[in-house]
Amino acid sequence: MQSLLDHLRARLNREGALTVADFMGEALTHPLSGYYMRGDPFGAPGPAGGDFITAPEISQMFGELIGVWCAETWMRLGQPAHCLLVELGPGRGTLMADALRATRQVPGFFDAIDVHLVEVSPALRERQREALGAHEVTWLGNVGQIPEAPMLVIANEFFDALPVRQFEQTFEGWAERLVVLAPDGNLSFALAAPSPANRVLIPTALRDAPVGTLAEVCPAGLNIAAFLGHRLARQPGAALIVDYGPATPTAGPTLQALRRHRRHEVLEEPGTADLTAHVDFASLAQAAGAAGCAIHGPIGQGAFLEALGIELRAAQLAERAPAAAGAIAGARRRLTDPEQMGELFKVLALTPRELGPPAGFETA
Ligand code: SAH
Repeated sequence: MQSLLDHLRARLNREGALTVADFMGEALTHPLSGYYMRGDPFGAPGPAGGDFITAPEISQMFGELIGVWCAETWMRLGQPAHCLLVELGPGRGTLMADALRATRQVPGFFDAIDVHLVEVSPALRERQREALGAHEVTWLGNVGQIPEAPMLVIANEFFDALPVRQFEQTFEGWAERLVVLAPDGNLSFALAAPSPANRVLIPTALRDAPVGTLAEVCPAGLNIAAFLGHRLARQPGAALIVDYGPATPTAGPTLQALRRHRRHEVLEEPGTADLTAHVDFASLAQAAGAAGCAIHGPIGQGAFLEALGIELRAAQLAERAPAAAGAIAGARRRLTDPEQMGELFKVLALTPRELGPPAGFETA
């Protein structure tokens, strides 16, 4: 089979250059050799397996509390008789499995919800099918296919996988960073000529940044935020976006490749390492808000999970399995400690304007 590098070389021979977003999209979701398309990048749970570990894989408490948040929000919405429960980029399906298990007893909730998973990867869809067992699920290829209905949308570490474009400030204005073919046949970065048209794409706070500043823009993320904002301006529901990144636009670059929990060169052996970039929460919130919904947060993941009762849940689990008490306390710290995931990871909620702040955001 042609390697992804060969495919990219052929594209570069034809097209001359790719944007960083084109490159990232190919590396992650090329139908045959994209990173997410080939198999299960998460590997065995635990520090040694896979390429990276996400919150739902650290502890069942994460998905359980998000499930409770969904059921709570459904009640605040007036318990719509039919409500989509949508997850974007569900990975192994762990979060959804934990969320469903934790909300089984909520009267009426299971009869109302209709689980939809937005997932590009056939390999991961298979993992999700296994994780969700008997539960009936509909898979969608992209957010635009979500049916029009009341909806609860959750996305954990989904937006950080969406392709970013990169721009560099020069004396003549913003210039786009491109991926080109170096004379030795390897991929390398190059800078396109500056263009005044780039300026409007840059977050306002960074537009006049000094020469040499690098800014990242995630067009797919902004489109999805605007889509959700538009839906939630017209229909009951809520969206919960959990990811890592700053609360205000910050100069980059933050695009990084991870393989086996270690940094990897972004352009080296494309398709074999995970690529992510920090999520620009302010720009997502702005795009969603401009489409007509209300914005809550972002707040730190730690504060959010504490407000939802992670302390109590950890105590319950430890009581049931005293031998695991240390591991449970460790997982809670990892998810909530400001030095660990508690502050770098943030939670943003989108709701219809009339709903008011959802659980966890009341004091935000
Ligand atoms: N939410 C999971 C997995 C995060 S990894 C967790 O927290 O463990 C990112 C997920 O998004 C994977 O399931 C990946 O296949 C999916 N994904 C990445 N790009 C996508 C895209 N453009 N459209 C749909 N799903 C995508």
